[in-house]
Amino acid sequence: MATTRVTDAVAAAWRELVDTARRSVADGLVVGTSGNVSVRVGEDLVLVTPSGVPYDRLTPDDVTGVDPSGRRVLGGLAPTSELPLHLAVYADTDARAIVHTHAVHATAVSTLVDRLPLVHYMAAALGGQIRTAAYATYGTKELAENVRLALRDRTGCLLRNHGTLTYGATLSQAYDRTAQLEWMCRVWLTASSVPGLSPSLLSETELAAAADRLRGYGQPG
Ligand code: 13P
Ligand code: ZN
Repeated sequence: MATTRVTDAVAAAWRELVDTARRSVADGLVVGTSGNVSVRVGEDLVLVTPSGVPYDRLTPDDVTGVDPSGRRVLGGLAPTSELPLHLAVYADTDARAIVHTHAVHATAVSTLVDRLPLVHYMAAALGGQIRTAAYATYGTKELAENVRLALRDRTGCLLRNHGTLTYGATLSQAYDRTAQLEWMCRVWLTASSVPGLSPSLLSETELAAAADRLRGYGQPG
């Protein structure tokens, strides 16, 4: 089965992928083996978490890789059941890394709204107001297509009655976007659960101004 070599770059990417998956459990974004993580190495290789294996059991020998068509080219473990979802996002966007979780507040919000109300300007860091992808059975091409539609001009979305998906240029960027999305969902649920009051929301103009400013956020250069 293994037709691709585990170079130093592949081994390093696998370590980072396993660290990211473990962090999602440690930070409470994932329970057990729910969720999955992937990262592209070059143009022909996608490393993915194997299906149903607790992340603390993963070793350097478990490196699991597929080519962009989904053919397994590295390792003996079955890739994540959400492989069609990960591959569809890579095919459709400039994603280099993807994080999928069942984070509790985001999953709760996915059952309530088609779009996450604009309670915070950090929505701009994910490209704008976050959409909820229509429900389909996990692991199906239908779910992949629903997510593809919800991601248009966004780097993250909710999956109805399921969880979150975010992507980025690196694993740490994809992970941070998941953490921000979960945090925004928590803010909205918290604010909207105060009896007799409802949260004020940002306008598209206010969001656009924040998006503009975020382009210069952080340290220069
Ligand atoms: P895997 O263990 O196959 O990655 O599945 C977890 C999951 O979140 C399915 O949606
Ligand atoms: Zn899932």
